[in-house]
Amino acid sequence: MTRVYNFSAGPATLPLPVLEQVRDELLDWHGLGASVMEISHRGTEFREFAQQTEADCRQLLAIPDNYHVLFVQGGGRGQFSMVPLNLLRGKTHADYVETGIWSKLAAREAEKYCVVNQSVMADSSGYFTIPDRDTWQLDPHAAYVHYVDNETVNGIEFPYIPDTGDVPLVSDMSSNLFSRQFDISRFGLVYAGVQKNIGPAGMALVIVREDLVGQALKITPCLYDYQNHVTEHSLYNTPPTFTWYVCGLVFKWLIAQGGVAAMEQQNAVKAEKLYNFIDSSEFYHNDIDLRYRSRMNVVFRLYDESRNEAFLAGAKQAGLISLKGHRYVGGMRASIYNAMPESAVDALINYMDDFANNA
Ligand SMILES: *Cc1c(COP(=O)(O)O)cnc(C)c1O
Repeated sequence: MTRVYNFSAGPATLPLPVLEQVRDELLDWHGLGASVMEISHRGTEFREFAQQTEADCRQLLAIPDNYHVLFVQGGGRGQFSMVPLNLLRGKTHADYVETGIWSKLAAREAEKYCVVNQSVMADSSGYFTIPDRDTWQLDPHAAYVHYVDNETVNGIEFPYIPDTGDVPLVSDMSSNLFSRQFDISRFGLVYAGVQKNIGPAGMALVIVREDLVGQALKITPCLYDYQNHVTEHSLYNTPPTFTWYVCGLVFKWLIAQGGVAAMEQQNAVKAEKLYNFIDSSEFYHNDIDLRYRSRMNVVFRLYDESRNEAFLAGAKQAGLISLKGHRYVGGMRASIYNAMPESAVDALINYMDDFANNA
């Protein structure tokens, strides 16, 4: 069996050593004679594992003590509802910064619960840049400001943390959490669906400042109230234990790689290589404002789009899969998360070069 290089945006490639460990301990986890999928989430073994996973997460991101770390169901989009339900705290308005498809969808969901100030519209004709911070019309009375740190579909990433004064800042980091170091204390809440850069599908990781929890709207479903997950250490109901377990292994793998700092370096090298190649090519192009190009999701197009199918078919033959862009935007997209080695980027560049030369 040969493994291909899988550029899928999510569910995405996982570190090979993690998959091997999953395989090796699948039938007998921690000497229990049963798999991690088959044991009680309330037993000592799983509880200890969950505690260790939280500790590793805290270490990797240097999370201060006044923040809770939660593993909840509902993926990334579950948070589109959970954030307004919990963070409005008696206020009627929230600010949403729109820089791509995911931030737009987050705003649409929040409109069910509050008045959404569309404070920043990146571009209604397609998202290629982020308007400068000093042009944003933020409401000082908003309950929070929501933005998407990395727009997975559009290939746009913030190179800085926007300053929102006393208004809590909320960020969807589904596709770039753990890809670089940053200061959590600048945020009220950070969340990520885990299936991009953390583990298999099935959960979201939420990091939330203590004072923002405990004031959910009355209508909030019990599973969507952060307070319940805080009180029960994310064991309020039966969690997707297998997903959680693999996330825990990924954290161990990250620590062994040198942590987030090491990932940040490698991710910069990978992205720069690929963008340099695209920019130097007369066959491919990327139209994102240079300042905001994503290090995680590199979108590119062929000048001759009639060659798209041939490009994808040839890539598959070369062992490079899932390069097709999101259906909303078309073109191509190479997702190069933490688990993607530099050799994959080299292989992709080689293939792209060959394809261009033989066109
Ligand atoms: C994938 C993604 C989502 C949606 O995640 P689901 O787990 O499918 O709900 C939300 N935001 C961003 C930035 C994403 O990349």
